[in-house]
Amino acid sequence: MCGFTLESVDLSILSCNLNHMSTSSVTETQVLTGVPVVAGVAYAPVIRPGARPTAPVSAADVPEADRPGEVDRLKAAAAAVAERLRDRAAHATGVASEVLATTAALAQDRAWLLDAEKRIKAGSPAHHAVGGSIAKISDALSKAGDLMAERVTDLRDVRDRVLAQLAGLPEPGVPVPDVPSVLCAEDLAPADTAGLDPTLVVALATTLGGPTSHTAIIARQLGIPCVVAVAGLDAVPAGVKVMVNGALGTVTVSPDAEQAQHAVGKAREDAARIAQWTGPGATADGHAVAVLANVQDGAAARAASQTPAEGVGLFRTELCFLNRDTEPTVDEQARIYGEVLTAFEGRKVVIRTLDAGSDKPLKFAGHTDEANPALGVRGVRISFGNPGLLTRQLESIAAAAQATGSDPWVMAPMIATGDEAKNFAAQARSFGLTPGVMIEIPAAALLADRILEHVDFLSIGTNDLAQYTMAADRMSAELATLTDPWQPGVLTLVAMTAKAGAAVGKPVGVCGEAAADPLLACVLVGMGVTSLSAAATAVPGVGAALAGVTLERCRAAAQSVVQTASAADARSAALAVLG
Ligand code: PEP
Ligand code: MG
Repeated sequence: MCGFTLESVDLSILSCNLNHMSTSSVTETQVLTGVPVVAGVAYAPVIRPGARPTAPVSAADVPEADRPGEVDRLKAAAAAVAERLRDRAAHATGVASEVLATTAALAQDRAWLLDAEKRIKAGSPAHHAVGGSIAKISDALSKAGDLMAERVTDLRDVRDRVLAQLAGLPEPGVPVPDVPSVLCAEDLAPADTAGLDPTLVVALATTLGGPTSHTAIIARQLGIPCVVAVAGLDAVPAGVKVMVNGALGTVTVSPDAEQAQHAVGKAREDAARIAQWTGPGATADGHAVAVLANVQDGAAARAASQTPAEGVGLFRTELCFLNRDTEPTVDEQARIYGEVLTAFEGRKVVIRTLDAGSDKPLKFAGHTDEANPALGVRGVRISFGNPGLLTRQLESIAAAAQATGSDPWVMAPMIATGDEAKNFAAQARSFGLTPGVMIEIPAAALLADRILEHVDFLSIGTNDLAQYTMAADRMSAELATLTDPWQPGVLTLVAMTAKAGAAVGKPVGVCGEAAADPLLACVLVGMGVTSLSAAATAVPGVGAALAGVTLERCRAAAQSVVQTASAADARSAALAVLG
């Protein structure tokens, strides 16, 4: 693994560029397993991002006579980096082009260049001056917070590129391959992946990262197969051919070429079939299952409305306000919620009340310092000490509903008890809204029948349900195999919840990442789940998978997975039944 620390590594000894690893030792077929993220199969040689260089902590002073030359060296390096980025920007489109152009401008930003020049004139070598200046400016930006702080990652990327240029090392980040390739890395940063061309980078595989990691998000956007948390991936050198199976979560090193090509062909046929699916969601024998989209604002809802998604199964309202210092007014909230309702006019929209806290803190929610924020005051619990926050949000949703003539459902996150469900339902009903709750805590799944006495529907958040069932942080890359929604322990709780809903004829949806996995989606339907809500890009794959199986087969698959003892066995059991 290339583990750099800024303090300890000298630039002169940097050589952890995995592109240069020997390929001769890897000829035997070996299957590595990880966590599947985006379905599809790709077979191509491995490329790896170049190592990120670091500046040494101490460096001998440059003799005074050489300092002007050292300043010129710095300026030339910054100019070369900017030029290369501008060139890439010119060949990219959309957001990727913008990201690259912004990074190019930063590479020649006067603020850090003048500071670095001053340092060189005082005796620092260029690479030391770059590290010092960018550290100073990054520090100031971090303190300024919000959007300013977001620039820090870009600045550090610039630093790495300039340092590499000064040291005569290859440009850090993802190389542009000459042939379609599989990008393998420990993990991927936004700057590494801006402008990735899915015709050249045909799959992603990483050693770290969970199903909700940055890598996973990029892969979904690009629509390329992706597997994360792959044990043993670091040992696979650049140049070796691998087959990534994003449905099974495997990376086969040096597979049989003919078999791999056959698997790729089959996956392409599947992709073509998926692209033709237009909804509505139903199994092959006509059992209706609403296939919905998860959105976080009006723009995402408008984009989702262009897909076959039949509605919105999860509107994560807290994501609209992550940058806000103060609580938005009722009018402002109503306008934002109204945008989503308008995008799906006349269709189902489920609005979740603020799920602030833990990995999504909101400045105005009044979080206190907690030792274990994921087990602390998050989700609906915020309203216990701050009831007005929930009341004003419900008022805003009701106002948006009235203004748009819609009838949205509302649900509370992180419900643990029947009483919490009862209180929430009473408040939602007082605003004329249809109440439901999320099932994300094992206790709520176990008592789903009692919770259903109070609410009109349930929606299972498998991301948190997996986290709390398996006692494994969903943000931890090391524990990604535990937070896999295929864990039979998690699926048993899902099955219990769905059964409780079916017993009283109330809808039970799934809106966690599990609903984005086409195979698992069929299993969930077999358990009795009535709707599936996933990232809009996952909707056609889920819909097409359902259309290819009967309800009876889904039920058989559901029965077999809950009898298994591991996530891998659960997947195999489902595959055996559903094909
Ligand atoms: C979940 O926990 O599965 C869920 C949908 O909520 P979030 O991912 O926003 O916590
Ligand atoms: Mg959740």
